[in-house]
Amino acid sequence: MDIIRSVSEMRQWASSVRVAGQSISFVPTMGFLHQGHLSLLKEGRKRGDLLVLSIFVNPTQFGQGEDFAEYPRDLQQDCEIAQQAGVDIIFAPEAKDMYPNGYATCVAVEGITETLCGRSRPGHFRGVCTVVSKLFNIIQPQTAIFGHKDFQQLAVIKRLTLDMNMPVDIFGMPIFRETDGLAMSSRNVYLSADQRRQALVLSQSLTQAKELVKAGETDCANIIFRLKKYIGQQPDARIDYVQICHQLTLEDQSQVDKDSVLLLAVYFGKTRLIDNDFLAANHD
Ligand code: AMP
Repeated sequence: MDIIRSVSEMRQWASSVRVAGQSISFVPTMGFLHQGHLSLLKEGRKRGDLLVLSIFVNPTQFGQGEDFAEYPRDLQQDCEIAQQAGVDIIFAPEAKDMYPNGYATCVAVEGITETLCGRSRPGHFRGVCTVVSKLFNIIQPQTAIFGHKDFQQLAVIKRLTLDMNMPVDIFGMPIFRETDGLAMSSRNVYLSADQRRQALVLSQSLTQAKELVKAGETDCANIIFRLKKYIGQQPDARIDYVQICHQLTLEDQSQVDKDSVLLLAVYFGKTRLIDNDFLAANHD
């Protein structure tokens, strides 16, 4: 496994791979790898001749007052995990190489970026779409793997690649959870022991909602009302959103159907956690 730090070197490597007729699968991350990332890497390993992992805490997707500076970083540990996962190249560029002086272009997807996380984090998806477009141009993968953990991000990237005719197949992987249900996230390290315990309301809310649907409840407003009340019982929980949306358009729904996804974003202290799941057992 090699680590490439420069954009030009990464481009050269990718070109030589193309000339040799080999395919690249790609897993973009911000590092501080956990088993959720590992599940993406395992899938990536199967889907291409060569596997590239990017580790880049992308400054343009963080808003003012967000956790860019504190975001956890541990390149050495990430290298060990990546090596075991069969990664061929780690691409870990410097921000000044990705965004050199004079940089003036960004990529924006409209519509589905204006709800959910896009509403509470203005500019976030513009940063994500810009960096993903740049990474795709540099690495030229045939396949890229993203997690359902960031459900809106996956939907936005699918929209972006379709709209811009990018020759990359996008695959989504299920959310990887701790044994008690908490969705794995690099940001979980921010939680105190007590907040970590309170944060279980996220996965419990998803289970509760699925049980309501199984018992015949189809009214989204009823489900959302009950979940908000349930989450609100935790002393440190501050709800950002609880929404039920169509899995492709991310438009709010009034009635649950096979395309319904329940999406949650809740602060525990300063830490904002997200989680989601399909509501119907027979979802696509
Ligand atoms: P991040 O490093 O947080 O930007 O995440 C990089 C990729 O890993 C994204 O596609 C995430 O959706 C995915 N990911 C993060 N956490 C999980 C998880 N618990 N299960 C599955 N995928 C995840």
